[in-house]
Amino acid sequence: MKAAILSDKKNIILEDIPDPGSPSSFEVRVKILSVGICGSDVHYYSHGRIGPYVVESPLILGHEACGYVEEIGDEVTSLSVGDFVALEPGIPCHKCKECFTGKYNLCKGVKFWATPPINGALVEYVLHPESFTYKLPDTLDQNVGPLIEPLSVSVHALRKTGISPGDTVFVSGSGTVGNLTSSVAKYSGASIVIASDTNTNRLELAKKMGVDNTIKIDNNEILSELYKIESVPEPNLIYECSGNSEVLNELIKIAAPGARIALIGMGNEDYKLNAVEAMAKELEIYTVFRYSNSYGIAVQIAKSNKFQFHNLITDTFSIDEVSRAFEYAVNPDPRTCKILIEL
Ligand SMILES: [Zn+2]
Ligand SMILES: [Zn+2]
Repeated sequence: MKAAILSDKKNIILEDIPDPGSPSSFEVRVKILSVGICGSDVHYYSHGRIGPYVVESPLILGHEACGYVEEIGDEVTSLSVGDFVALEPGIPCHKCKECFTGKYNLCKGVKFWATPPINGALVEYVLHPESFTYKLPDTLDQNVGPLIEPLSVSVHALRKTGISPGDTVFVSGSGTVGNLTSSVAKYSGASIVIASDTNTNRLELAKKMGVDNTIKIDNNEILSELYKIESVPEPNLIYECSGNSEVLNELIKIAAPGARIALIGMGNEDYKLNAVEAMAKELEIYTVFRYSNSYGIAVQIAKSNKFQFHNLITDTFSIDEVSRAFEYAVNPDPRTCKILIEL
């Protein structure tokens, strides 16, 4: 079967690798339909590492995948051949304290697709545990399948901070995760969602996705100054999705007293925290790493048909063009949001 392999920095090759064969009792065999390119995939492609995770041998990228069930193991009860499914990409050890307490995103033994040395989903077929495979409605736009993964990140973040009807939400960064986070906030009862970005195209996208206010930041502008001009309400929930570490202290400035801030976007720089200012407002700061028990909720939100998630998919490439797709992802057009590879 075909696989897209990162053989070296900035070098992805299509190779024929052995077919994974038939599923074991509790697994399903899935024919991959499409895979979203994530910031982490692009980072491994460009730099060969993310922090402690180093690409030391050829690696198959991709962790945002959907497909069709082709064969089921003899103990599988919840899925049938032909089902359209989303695949949760991190399989935890099921043995440690984190796994037993439901925080399996923090499992040290997790095998997460496209995090070295674990291969990802840019392949024709995978074997996957039934319990990490989620049936999607056949009526769902096929392009939305891979978005269940980043949507799960948003679900996890909102469950961590909590959200109540009437909350005012600010989302920093209007890329894929920013927009999905805005949608989950709306779904959860937020009355006002305000989104920011440096890219006008992305703010247009955010408006299309249903945010109430947008704030355009230019590189040298200070968000808190713009905020005064725009006279929008002080947010009591803030989600940082841009990965720009410099924005954190600005978010502290615009936060309502007692607000909760979640750091979702992961950048390269460490944060310098104005702790005194945060303390004076008694802010609560949350960190978010992937998700646990969130896929099912993400599927429900996608199924609700309240949001036009397919708008986030701006570019698609075939697997044969995978090399060009990654080259493009390094330096995309400003109108690009999520890139999909179709198998
Ligand atoms: Zn991702
Ligand atoms: Zn574990």
